[in-house]
Amino acid sequence: MSFSVAEVIVDVPTYHVDRPFDYEVPTEWVKVIEVGSRVKVPFGPRNVLGFVVGLKNDTDVPINKIKPISNILDMEPVLTAEMLSLAKWLKNETICYEIDALQVMLPSALRAKYEKVVNLQDDQAILPEQVQVIFGKRRQVNFKEFEKVGLLPLLKQLIEGRLVKIENVVKQQGNVKEVRMVKITDDIQILDVAMQEATRAVKQRSLIDWMRGHLGEVLKPQQIYEETGVSPAVLQSVVDKGAARFIQEEVYRDPFTKDVTRTHSLRLTEEQAIALKAIKKSMEAPSATTFLLQGVTGSGKTEIYLQAIQKVLDEGKEAIMLVPEISLTPQMTERFRSRFGEMVAVMHSGLSVGEKYDEWRKIQQGKVSVVVGARSAIFAPFTNIGLIILDEEHESTYKQEDSPRYHARDVAIWRSEYYKCPVILGSATPALESFARAKKGVYTLLTLKQRAMKQALPTVFVADMREELQKGNRSMFSEQLVEGIRMRLERKEQMVLFLNRRGYSSFVLCRDCGTVVQCPNCDISLTYHRTTEKLKCHYCGYEEHVPQICPQCQSEHIRYFGTGTQKVEEEIYKLFPEARLLRMDVDTTKHKGAHEEILQAFGEGQADILLGTQMIAKGLDFPNITLVGVLSADTSLHIPDYRAAERTFQLLTQVSGRAGRHEKPGEVIIQTYTPEHYAIELAKTQDYEPFYEREMFLRRRSGYPPYYFVALVQVSHEDVMMAAEYAGRAGDWLRGNLSNQVAIIGPTAASISRLQNRYRYQCLIKYKIEPNLIPVLQRLLAMYRAEWVKQGILMTVDLDPSTI
Ligand code: ADP
Ligand code: ZN
Ligand code: ZN
Repeated sequence: MSFSVAEVIVDVPTYHVDRPFDYEVPTEWVKVIEVGSRVKVPFGPRNVLGFVVGLKNDTDVPINKIKPISNILDMEPVLTAEMLSLAKWLKNETICYEIDALQVMLPSALRAKYEKVVNLQDDQAILPEQVQVIFGKRRQVNFKEFEKVGLLPLLKQLIEGRLVKIENVVKQQGNVKEVRMVKITDDIQILDVAMQEATRAVKQRSLIDWMRGHLGEVLKPQQIYEETGVSPAVLQSVVDKGAARFIQEEVYRDPFTKDVTRTHSLRLTEEQAIALKAIKKSMEAPSATTFLLQGVTGSGKTEIYLQAIQKVLDEGKEAIMLVPEISLTPQMTERFRSRFGEMVAVMHSGLSVGEKYDEWRKIQQGKVSVVVGARSAIFAPFTNIGLIILDEEHESTYKQEDSPRYHARDVAIWRSEYYKCPVILGSATPALESFARAKKGVYTLLTLKQRAMKQALPTVFVADMREELQKGNRSMFSEQLVEGIRMRLERKEQMVLFLNRRGYSSFVLCRDCGTVVQCPNCDISLTYHRTTEKLKCHYCGYEEHVPQICPQCQSEHIRYFGTGTQKVEEEIYKLFPEARLLRMDVDTTKHKGAHEEILQAFGEGQADILLGTQMIAKGLDFPNITLVGVLSADTSLHIPDYRAAERTFQLLTQVSGRAGRHEKPGEVIIQTYTPEHYAIELAKTQDYEPFYEREMFLRRRSGYPPYYFVALVQVSHEDVMMAAEYAGRAGDWLRGNLSNQVAIIGPTAASISRLQNRYRYQCLIKYKIEPNLIPVLQRLLAMYRAEWVKQGILMTVDLDPSTI
């Protein structure tokens, strides 16, 4: 059955209407077009990207109005039926446009921004001569042709794996569908095309006669020479005529920088074995059970993941392993690679566009069975999933902040229901929502109370920085921490110094008038970067030189303030000139592979101190670390967010867990100005449940999740009055349309009240049950799209904001 009408979801920036449009399928494509492929279609005056979501034989569009598809971009669909229905679900669940849901599932190389795929190899061993670039299915170009049209430098860039615009090539070659790099092997396949073609050359004729008896076979050229006595030149001329072809293998870039040694399953502890048994049982059922694996740091959660995945692989199925910002934990990737070798693909933000595409393609082509990746890897195009794992499931990076505003946990559960497979949510400090669900029996709770090798949890001391001040200590280190560091240096043990940088950074302050240099576009202080001697906005990228005089009062008394990692580094060297310190932050990890290099050096004992930000809080497992110092526990406590205490507790537990993981006992020193705060008090014992109880009590009292749901409507405009006005209208409209069981708070200024020159106001919706919420929000969005957009308003709706 062939279809002549395609239903297409189009990528149109204003999204006037979020529904499929009918397009005619030109006759020559009727046989090739498939649901899930990307197409180019005319929309208004432009040609836009679209996804085929349905095929049919009739349409309500009048015959003279229906427009034809202008191009098919994929010969094989890039989205499966599962993905298309997942997109529909995402659209409703997160109130997003369907096109956004469709695009988020694909690597960026396949999104509207790029459209064309350049799939090439980083491997220096491959020379341009060995490369053929395939345009679409048929047209193949080798380096000679690039040379002829003067595009050899471009080809070299492609080979080096740098994605470049290929517009020039497009012009030369016409209709480019896809550029994919292949390596020409020396296997040759005999084809029957052009066999009838007469040729006068005797040797070619005799070769062609011989080949008639070998149609479709794959042979080595050497064999052909031996059996027929022809020369390579003759064979080549027959290949040029199209009667035979060299077999090509698709080549991929390999994002792994080094080889790993193979590891094997460990003998599980009793607790681990009980947990694994429950997981395996649900795999056999099979059932879509969600497990919450709550295990203290170092309890061997990862070993459970590894052995559960092994079972999935034994059954010929596939597994998705999510970790927060994987590029930041190379040790983690390595543990998977060393267990499963080539079966593993990785997906994270540290890869180039081309590398990401290659990893995606390996998954799609069934070349790998495990993906270890950050949030978006939840959309890995596997088709026989046996297990999905979210490690550190409480991490806020699992929630996407742009449309579609999805949480990877929800997508994981959706896919697990589709495949009838279990989900494991693992954490030492689960999100309150998750633990509450486990207590209700929605998730199945598995607990690991002890560390894998029975090591004690580290001893935690809290250093009261107010007392330090009273003692006259104005430095950023408490006496206790200084003593701790001195002792470790003497004993030749290693330590981690953690700087909680969220909302806290080096800034420039005028000592006379107190002015802090601000970003001209955002209500945020600029951050001072010592390496470039510049001030930078972390939100919009704005940069300027450090002023010599105060922009406000012209005073020359400018002072650098705050505790950046660079500042800590300097202070450490002042106190301990002999210390060897490695710093890991955005500045030292700019180049590719920098994380690995720093961690490897630390692991090899090339340094005593590893100093860093959030990126060292997770996943590190080094035997010689016996001290963890938290320089300031307060910074994340004072973020205006109902989750501030939870985040602080999680972070402190997490980073403390880096100490004493092996034989040597660990110690943690937490510096704070508010030692009496319960998040800090309870982080001392690293005991999750008392924290949970306490925090739940407060959440109930103040009406926040998990007792209530919250949704956030945010409105922005370049003009502050307009932003406030329309946020007010949104609030009034919500009050008028939602039941009086729903609390609508606001409008209030957002916590960052101006961003990229836009003023931001918001309304917070708190509710327990409100069946009307989604339709009401959809109507609000429709009103915004139809009217408010014209006034320059931007409005977003987030049904599960990770910060408010
Ligand atoms: P988690 O993921 O819970 O923080 P890990 O899986 O990283 O814990 O385990 C902590 C350490 O204990 C690692 O070095 C790991 O190799 C080791 N380990 C885990 N399980 C076992 C086991 N059953 N026997 C011996 N060592 C183990
Ligand atoms: Zn001043
Ligand atoms: Zn800015």
